[in-house]
Amino acid sequence: MPILDQSNPLPFFKSLYHGFNARLGSPADRRDSIEDILTYAFESFERGVEHAPENLAALACHGGCASCCTIRVAATAPEILLIARAIKSSPKTMEFELSRKIAGADRATQQLDERQRMESGFACPFIARDLCVIYSVRPLACRGHASFDERACIDALAGRACDVPISALHMTVRSLVQNAMQAALRDAGRAWGVYELNQALHIALADDACETVWAQGVDVFASALIADVSLEEMAETFDALKAHIA
Ligand code: SF4
Repeated sequence: MPILDQSNPLPFFKSLYHGFNARLGSPADRRDSIEDILTYAFESFERGVEHAPENLAALACHGGCASCCTIRVAATAPEILLIARAIKSSPKTMEFELSRKIAGADRATQQLDERQRMESGFACPFIARDLCVIYSVRPLACRGHASFDERACIDALAGRACDVPISALHMTVRSLVQNAMQAALRDAGRAWGVYELNQALHIALADDACETVWAQGVDVFASALIADVSLEEMAETFDALKAHIA
């Protein structure tokens, strides 16, 4: 994989797009492809941010700080299905507790827009003692949200007006990885939108057939779709990008 050149991200996107296409596999092995796709996505993200410019300030994010874990989390279907798998394979008491918290978070936040959600201060159901209990499978959205100033994050969480300095590099790499995955999913005939995490997980945990049905091309999380940008607009962008890298 090429190193990300922020002044020309197309080669990086092209490499990712072909990598995802290769991993989506044939219809016969679709179930196993979810883990493969996301291992590639998460490794690509880490590789994309590890060659940060030397003048990039140190990140303030660290274990035990969950200040930003009140924001709305958008995730693709493979990310949601992988987290659902992790929850279902956890000890029964933990599975029950997480399912209960996810259902509660869904009820409390489903009607809130992104701003209201942040202002509500409603914590992500995966926070326990300020740590993320699904850290190894957390979505790209969480990986791409990196702050340079812990004090600013705490102030923002407390509702005090302030600009939180966020790493543009992490946001860019997250977008490139996620968009390349979405473009490849779309080409493979699978639902490729982004969904509100709690709402979509509530659906996935209630129905064991979700993964199989999604692999058949059905948008099982349609009711949780985040449509800040329409699918039509995104499809046009992906087609334009593919024309550039053909
Ligand atoms: S999934 Fe984990 S990292 Fe993401 S918002 Fe929830 S607790 Fe925070």
